[in-house]
Amino acid sequence: MAKVKVYQATYDDLEELIPRVFRDFPFSFKNKRVFIKPNMLSARRPEEGVTTNPKLVKEIVKYILAEGGEVLVGDNPSLMGEGIQMRVGEKTGIKEASLGKFCDITRNPRLVKVPELGELAVSSEILDCDILLSLPKFKTHPLTILTGAVKNMFGILVGVEKPRLHYRFPTPKEFSSVLPLIYEIRRPDLTIIDGIIGMEGFGPSNGTLRVINRLIVSRDGYACDWVMAQMVKVEPERLEFLNQAEKRGLFLPKEITVEGDFITVEKFKLPIKVGDNLLSRSFLKLLYHPVRYKRIRIEKKRCRLCSLCVQICPKSALMIKGKGLKYKRKDCIACFCCQEVCPEGAIKPA
Ligand code: SF4
Ligand code: SF4
Repeated sequence: MAKVKVYQATYDDLEELIPRVFRDFPFSFKNKRVFIKPNMLSARRPEEGVTTNPKLVKEIVKYILAEGGEVLVGDNPSLMGEGIQMRVGEKTGIKEASLGKFCDITRNPRLVKVPELGELAVSSEILDCDILLSLPKFKTHPLTILTGAVKNMFGILVGVEKPRLHYRFPTPKEFSSVLPLIYEIRRPDLTIIDGIIGMEGFGPSNGTLRVINRLIVSRDGYACDWVMAQMVKVEPERLEFLNQAEKRGLFLPKEITVEGDFITVEKFKLPIKVGDNLLSRSFLKLLYHPVRYKRIRIEKKRCRLCSLCVQICPKSALMIKGKGLKYKRKDCIACFCCQEVCPEGAIKPA
């Protein structure tokens, strides 16, 4: 059975509520490496409701530290570039809410082979943790209608890996088929959807805030999203990523049990969904075309051919050939690991 529990909540209740959540969904945190993955889509203030509220992050960090766990907090934002994760962390309030446990997870990717997708660069901090807690935001999305637990795990991908998949799988149907594959790379051990203030309409960045006053919690993220859909009266069958997951035997709707303070949110505004037709496909292909991704540039005059960047590059996009450093732009995922190790300052963001 996939238990989903819905809790009535405000951001001011969380100090009292979070211990209750972990009584209902117990873990042994002592000496465990716990990774907390909020939604840090972009550098927006907490009150804009685009990203997971920092008060939720803070109460969870506090609780796990008190239980003796080792905590890390981070995400791969949608934009790439030097220091972007820190900037997003600061603006969203999540860095401060992490009580010194915020970390840049864009710098140490590891390649994971997914049979249907090939090799993908994933943040190693997420792959290496003992317990993964996912904290998505309750929002709308033009490709998936709703974005919550499953879509939040798309953020385990580093750098341009995300737009690259958007480019390869541009339409709602194609993109939805990818989401469960990413989710299954590392299933979260618990998902807590921040639905205290959700977003309707033109989400995930420019919608209208909607007070829902609920957290949706489950060990099964598919079940969380299924319940989220029920709350806003969207037939879960309309969520193609859930259909795909069900087809693959990854979750069974009939096994979901719902407890707690379930409500229906009346007249919740859905986004204008992008179509699966050829026109939409061409537009989305253009939007995510690889020439648009910022990557790196090499100042050849400064390079001393020490090969440190070659050794650290997770995608083998750099190599020393003859008397020069060669760069394969198409393989680069813009993780900027090379820039970090270069002792000569020869690598810069493009
Ligand atoms: S070239 Fe640099 S930025 Fe690109 S993938 Fe390799 S290490 Fe990352
Ligand atoms: S790390 Fe810097 S100096 Fe060394 S090979 Fe790479 S670009 Fe050149």
